[in-house]
Amino acid sequence: MKLDYLIFAAHPDDAELAMGGTIAKLVDQGTKVGIIDLTRGEMGTRGTVESRDKETQAATKILGVQIRVNLNLPDGHLEPKREFVLKVVEKIRQYKPKIIFAPHWNDRHPDHTGASRMVKEAMFFAGLTKIETSLEGKPQERYRPHKLFYFMQTYEFEPTFIVDISDYFDKKMDSLKAYGTQFFNPGMEGPETFISKMNFTKYIISRAGVYGFHIGKEYGEPFFSDEKIELDLKDYVKYLG
Ligand SMILES: [Zn+2]
Repeated sequence: MKLDYLIFAAHPDDAELAMGGTIAKLVDQGTKVGIIDLTRGEMGTRGTVESRDKETQAATKILGVQIRVNLNLPDGHLEPKREFVLKVVEKIRQYKPKIIFAPHWNDRHPDHTGASRMVKEAMFFAGLTKIETSLEGKPQERYRPHKLFYFMQTYEFEPTFIVDISDYFDKKMDSLKAYGTQFFNPGMEGPETFISKMNFTKYIISRAGVYGFHIGKEYGEPFFSDEKIELDLKDYVKYLG
């Protein structure tokens, strides 16, 4: 299956947290969207691999993406090793997305910075004939997506563009609630983490509000692009209404 958009995230729940509203919007627009989680989050303080898998399935259903795959790479050890990068290359060549998304390279979690570098390298190598990969025993053709956009995790950056997610904000929050072991959940016992505190949920809501405000909307999600993006003013003026 060919995809329009493919999101690479280090841990299950990262995609929902950083761009769940955008994902729900793209799906609703009738485009084909996939998420590839690089690890199962087995180093997480709360929840187990099994409980996190179930939560991921529930969140995936809420967002309605066509494909959700886990690469089973080791949590806590993401880095642009050639064998890891080639696994990302395989997925890019398999799904041929027009646009891919990755974590921004400057972040608090080493796996996010590692995943960012892995995806950037994979995007380049996927387009080289001499980088050989195979799918079910058959050699894969070279393919390079048009664009790589970075999503925001803990650290903030000056965005290149912001997506209006006002109509999809509730869906984003529902997809996050599916991760009952990870985020604020008064019914759950166990150690607190950076993201399980009520304050973190409040922060996510406030941040979406701040980026929404920047574009004159209620809620927004920010993205960064290294490369310049063309703007078709004819389409944009229509969009403005
Ligand atoms: Zn993460």
